[in-house]
Amino acid sequence: MIKHYQEQDWVDFVCGTASVETMAAMEQHLHDGCEACSGLHRTWLRVRAMAGRESSFEPPPGAVRIVKLAYALSKPSQTGEPVVSFARLLFDSLLQPAPAGVRDGGGRGRHFLLQAGDIYIDVRQDRHDRLTGQLLNWRLPEERVKETEVWVISEGKVCANTRTNDFGEFQTECREDKLQWLVFEITGVKPIAVRLSSNG
Ligand SMILES: [Zn+2]
Repeated sequence: MIKHYQEQDWVDFVCGTASVETMAAMEQHLHDGCEACSGLHRTWLRVRAMAGRESSFEPPPGAVRIVKLAYALSKPSQTGEPVVSFARLLFDSLLQPAPAGVRDGGGRGRHFLLQAGDIYIDVRQDRHDRLTGQLLNWRLPEERVKETEVWVISEGKVCANTRTNDFGEFQTECREDKLQWLVFEITGVKPIAVRLSSNG
C-alpha cells in the first residue's frame, strides 16, 4: 500500500524543516507521480514563494513562520497551543449601521475596528479594494506600533503582505471576497489574527 503525505508534511517539506530521510522519500513520491501529493506540494510552494518574495534565493525566517501560520489558520480546529491571539471585532460596518454622524458617502466599502489586549486596529476597505488601517497601543500611545508585518490570508494562502510605517499606518490591496484573515505580527507580541469572513 502506497504511503501518502499529509498537508503538514508538505508544509515541512517546502520549509525544509522535515528530516533528510523524509524529504528524500517525499521527493521520490513526487517522482512516482502521485497527483494528490503533487497538488499539495505545488500549493505550499506557492505560499512559500509569496511569503518569501523579497528574497529569490533563500526564504527568510519570516517566510517559514508565515507559511506555518497560514497553515494553522487554514485549520482552525487544530488542537494545541494557539499560535496567535485572536482579536475581537468591536465594530464592523457590514454588521451594524454606522454610528450617528458618520457618513460613508453612500458607497460600498467596509470599516472595522479590532482589539487584542492593548492594541486597537482600525481598518477600512474602500470600493476599489484598497485596504488601509492603523494600529494603536492605547496604554502606551507614545509607543508607535511601527514595523508591524500585516498579512492578508485567504484559504491558507498569502494574498497580500505589507508593513506599517512610523505611525502604525499601513496600506495594501485585497479583493473584498479574498479578505478572510488579517494577521498582524507586532514585535515582541504573539501575532494577532482576526477572521473577517467565513468564506472558504
Ligand atoms: Zn501521494
